[in-house]
Formats: sequence, structure tokens, C-alpha cells
Amino acid sequence: MLKLSLYFLLTLVICQANAQLSEERAYTRQDSLRGSVTPERAWWDVLHYQLDVSVDPEKKTLKGTTTIRYKVLEDGDVLQIDLQNPLVIDKIIQDGKSLEVTHEGNAHFVRVVKPQKVGEINEISIAYSGKPHEAQNAPWDGGVTWAKDSAGNHFIATANQGIGASVWWPCKDHQYDEPDDGAVIRINVPANLVAVSNGRLKSQKREKNKTRTYTWEVVNPINNYTINMNIGDYVSFSEKYEGEKGSLDMEYWVLRYNLSKAKIHFRDAKRTMQAFEHWFGPYPFYEDSYKLVEVPYLGMEHQSSVTYGNGYRMGYKGIDLSSTGQGLKWDFIIVHETGHEWFGNNISTKDIADMWVHEGFTSYAESLFTEYHYGKEAGASYSRGLRANIQNSETIIGDYDVNGRGSGDMYYKGHNMLHTLRQIVNDDGKWREILRGLNKDFYQQVVTSQQVEEYIAEKTGLLLKPFFDQYLRDIRIPALEYWAKDGTLIYRWTNCLEAFAVPVDLYINGKKTRVEPTTEFQGLELNTTTAEIKVDPNYYVYSHSLYGNR
Ligand SMILES: [Zn+2]
Repeated sequence: MLKLSLYFLLTLVICQANAQLSEERAYTRQDSLRGSVTPERAWWDVLHYQLDVSVDPEKKTLKGTTTIRYKVLEDGDVLQIDLQNPLVIDKIIQDGKSLEVTHEGNAHFVRVVKPQKVGEINEISIAYSGKPHEAQNAPWDGGVTWAKDSAGNHFIATANQGIGASVWWPCKDHQYDEPDDGAVIRINVPANLVAVSNGRLKSQKREKNKTRTYTWEVVNPINNYTINMNIGDYVSFSEKYEGEKGSLDMEYWVLRYNLSKAKIHFRDAKRTMQAFEHWFGPYPFYEDSYKLVEVPYLGMEHQSSVTYGNGYRMGYKGIDLSSTGQGLKWDFIIVHETGHEWFGNNISTKDIADMWVHEGFTSYAESLFTEYHYGKEAGASYSRGLRANIQNSETIIGDYDVNGRGSGDMYYKGHNMLHTLRQIVNDDGKWREILRGLNKDFYQQVVTSQQVEEYIAEKTGLLLKPFFDQYLRDIRIPALEYWAKDGTLIYRWTNCLEAFAVPVDLYINGKKTRVEPTTEFQGLELNTTTAEIKVDPNYYVYSHSLYGNR
């Protein structure tokens, strides 16, 4: 008996150890250098980036200089600069003096010579060159895509969320620090090509060596992973959008042979702006304009230059991800990537572990777009339809300080968590106020998931910690367990955290009734002995009817 128990106990311990092992990911020192605010990052605050980069499409090489303007926050004499292999740093200069660098993989530690006084503003220039990592499957793996358009012209683009901006230019490669005063991006390309980047085109200059230099400027803070360069045989057209903050310049850069197609298809951009200004408040970057830029990969939320490669098709590459038909009424890439201008670019997360704030809200934005143009039930059915894509195998929030994003459920489950929360709030006016309030109160800020969760809890006056913990930090979907007998409905939440307690709407014989279950059984008098009970399908919860409904 004892032996047997011990055997069982041991088996149990071993099983648990294995389960834990399989959940833990192995991180390296490089992951920590990339993903944490190291002491060599913490003492200086980036104010401005200036990128000067020459692109040789034939050799697939870059040669350039990044100039970083920064403010000294505390004592320090070593700066961490990130630049990924196989690119190499040629020289680092401050005040005309060449500085000593120690390399550790993709992190480079630069010892400054002149004393760094707290409050002082300094500049440092990093010259670099080489053949950058080539993207195999942009935007997911990231890097540079060297393609040709169907007329045989070079068609080149960068996309680097996750892998990081340092895959093609030297920077402080961490989301917590955005350049407060924006960036200048100067791109030199063969004279027959056009280079498009973020913000506004300030100048273009013909150089002596049959090249052309395009200077773009962003005046707002920007995530460095959304700084991008796109090179091709581009032509452009534009329109004005009379929006909440005045007249917004909307500009479209497309391949020459796609111009007439784009003029029709890109009408979705204006429809997107209308819907999102309604739900989220003014477009956050009027000063920098809004652009859609055609690229040789699917698309990405580059700030003020949303990149587009959906092939002028509706849906996601012509597919409706929700399988409801709603997703084929609009171009997924235009709507989704533009949604990130509010959630991702305006409100950015400090750590990529909290990336659901970007993707959950933006996925949910697709539903709000659908609702705005096609009605409330159209939007809700889109939300429900996406649930088939949820895995529930790993948590949405990833690992902090190691550049570790959470599970892909951050999209559809994050979306449905918000859709569920909206049902709980049960007041569409207030819900819209919260969405707009987030964009106003966290305007151009870098935040944590916890800040967003606490903000919503405060504005709704609801105790939401167990709710967010359940959906973001646990993989179980709460189930409402219930049965009706002799005129009483008995119910409770199961398959969830002990503290999980949120109201839910039931249809009892077709009549909407709100109950407030906890993990303890409760009862509700039905005043009838025959009740048909259904949980409102807009809640992303499971339900188990015990003993059948009577
Ligand atoms: Zn996204």
C-alpha cells in the first residue's frame, strides 16, 4: 500500500516536473540583452534618430550611419547599441572622437570618453555596413526583402517586428524607449527607384553617382520597429480626409502598374479612418500624415506608412478569417494594420510580452469597423466567428525581459476577451468612451498590460483583475455550470481561477437576464418549471448544463 502510494506520488512529481519543463523556454544572455532594460540602456533616453542609409540592390548591401540624440538621465559611461549580425559596426563617433567598442553578439558596448552630465543632451554616430539578414517570410521572421516587381524592377522592403529594428540599422532596440522628437530617415537608392519611409517626404536630391536621396521625417515618437524603408518603382496619389483633428493628408504609394487598381481598392482606407476615429478618437499622427505603401510581403503597421501587400483583394489574401462572410466586405490588411496606428503605435507596450495590447485591440478593431459600416450584429458575428482560430494552449502574456511574446491567441482570444468585456460593461456609450479614453490618456505613451487593465477597471468601476488574469495569464476558458430544477436555476463558474466572478447574460425562455455567478453555487427563482436557458453567445465562455434543462 505504502509502496504503491509512493510510486503514485513519484509518478505525479515526475509528470509535473515534465509539464513544467515543457512550458519553460530556454533563454540566452542574448535574449536578456535584447529584451531587458540593461544598465547600459537605462541611463540615457533617446530623443531622436537620424538614419542615413545607402542601399545597393544588386549586391543586397547597406552602408550607413545612425545618429542618436539622447538625454543623460543618470551617471553612465557605457552605452549599449544593438546591431545584428551579419551587419558590422565600422566606427562610432562622439564629438569628433572615435570610441572604443566591445562586442557581445548583437549587443555592442560603447565606452564614451567625455563626461556625461545628467540632463545634458548628447549625440553619438554609428557607421555600419554589410549584408543584412534577409527575411524568408516577412513580416513574421523579419529582415530585408529583396524582391522584383513583375516588370523586373527592384522591389525592396524592411519589416522587423520581433526580430527588431537592429536587423538593419543600429539603435537602442527595445520598445520601452521611443525617440521623443521623432526621426529623420534618409535613403539613398539608384536613381530609377523611389524610397518611401515614415512621415513626410522633406526632399529628394539627385546625386552625382546616378543615385537619388530621399529624406523623410517623422515628428512624433515612434516605435523603432515601425521605422521602415520601402524601395520600388513607386507612383503616388493622395486625398484629404476631414477628420476630428482637421484635414488629414492620406497618401498612397503603389507600383506604377497598379495605380488604377489602387485608386479604386484603397477607398477602404478612408472608410477605415472614419470607423476608427469614431471608436478610438483622432488619428494619432496628423502631423506625419497617413500613408499606405505597397510592399512585396503581406503588410505591417509601420507608423504613418502602413505597408500593404494583400494583392488588392478583400479579406485576408482573399480569405475570411471569421468564416462568417463579414471579413470579405473589406481589405483585412488596410483595416488591421491601420488599426495599429491607435493600438501599437499610439499606445505601445514597454515589453513585447504584453503584445496583446497591440494585437488584441487591433483584431477587435476589425469587428468595430464591421459594426460601424454594417451594423452591430455584423460586427458581433465577426467576433464570434474568429473563435474557431483560438488554441488555448499557451498564455497570451509572454515572458518579460527576454523579448518573449506570448501565444498567437493574443489576436483572436484577445479580441474575444474584449468583446466579452463589452457585454459585461453593457453600455456601448461607456465602452466607446473607454476606447477613446485609452488613446487620449495614454497618448503616445509606452505602457504595460497592467496599466491598461487597471485603466479599464477604474473606468468601468468593476473588479476586473480576476477577469484579465483568467484570459491573459491562464489558458482555461471559464465554464458556466448550471441546472434548472423545480423552478430554480442553480449556477456557478468552473474551469477558472477561484476568484473569477463576472456577470453573464442568460436568455431564460428568450428573456435576457443577467446573473452574477462566482465559483460558489447560487440560485435564482425562475417562477416557472419549464425553462429553456441559453448563455448569450457574445460571451466567450463555455457552458455546461447539468442534468439537462427542465
Ligand atoms: Zn497586428
